[in-house]
Amino acid sequence: MRQRRFNICGAAFALVATWYVGQATAQDPMLSSRIVDLTHTYDTDTIFWPTEKGFRLERGPAGVTEKGYYYSANRLWTPEHGGTHVDAPSHFFADRPTVDQIPLKRLIGSGVVVDVRDKCRADRDYQIAVEDLQAWEAAHGDTLDGKIILLNTGYATHWPDREKYLGTAETGRGAIAKLHFPGLDPTAARWLARRRKIKAIGLDTASIDYGQSTMFGSHVTLCEHRIPILENVASMDALPATGFTLIALPMKIAGGSGGPTRVVALLATAPDGGW
Ligand SMILES: [Zn+2]
Repeated sequence: MRQRRFNICGAAFALVATWYVGQATAQDPMLSSRIVDLTHTYDTDTIFWPTEKGFRLERGPAGVTEKGYYYSANRLWTPEHGGTHVDAPSHFFADRPTVDQIPLKRLIGSGVVVDVRDKCRADRDYQIAVEDLQAWEAAHGDTLDGKIILLNTGYATHWPDREKYLGTAETGRGAIAKLHFPGLDPTAARWLARRRKIKAIGLDTASIDYGQSTMFGSHVTLCEHRIPILENVASMDALPATGFTLIALPMKIAGGSGGPTRVVALLATAPDGGW
């Protein structure tokens, strides 16, 4: 009798456990997602604006201490705007949120990829137009409203070759006029800011304004409208055009105009790990 009661209890427990695991898989996106890292590694090859010094890791102690345990700790030095990073609205507009003030809901959300690789391959100075954004909406029967938009120019594949990525490997103020890479047309930035309430926007070049820009009109408009900008985003080729969650978490620098950011995408997969 005691044995039988145990069996009934055991069966009930197994049933509840199976239900719980099923629920967890269905409800916890982390348990049923593939994670894509969209971040370039920070190292001595990391690309920065020609007028900036690069990332530096100052090596500290590394080794077994006299007490017998291992210990390692370094120091790092980096401009805010280099590698995969976010531009806070305060970067190009006064009285706008600094990087620590960006609401996290602007940096976590439904992501889409607008593929402009062909046009950017044909023209290093291509500026992504309103028509490119409208073409995405028409092709997918969806709106860009409320989305985090990633613009795939194909330039991430040039990383970390400065000549191919920026148009020049030179550094210093004289190199600025020699920058040639694609960006977002300021007219398209205004259209996104006024006609679509996007959460954030990012691309795989060093600046949301194309290399030859002198007035940085897309930066100004997006920052005025409190839209965070992700630059030097990596590995967009691994993403579908829609149907993923984007998470971009910058270093929380008090008063910072931007900062290094880990950008990842969560792609839905079948719970059984299928397709
Ligand atoms: Zn920046």
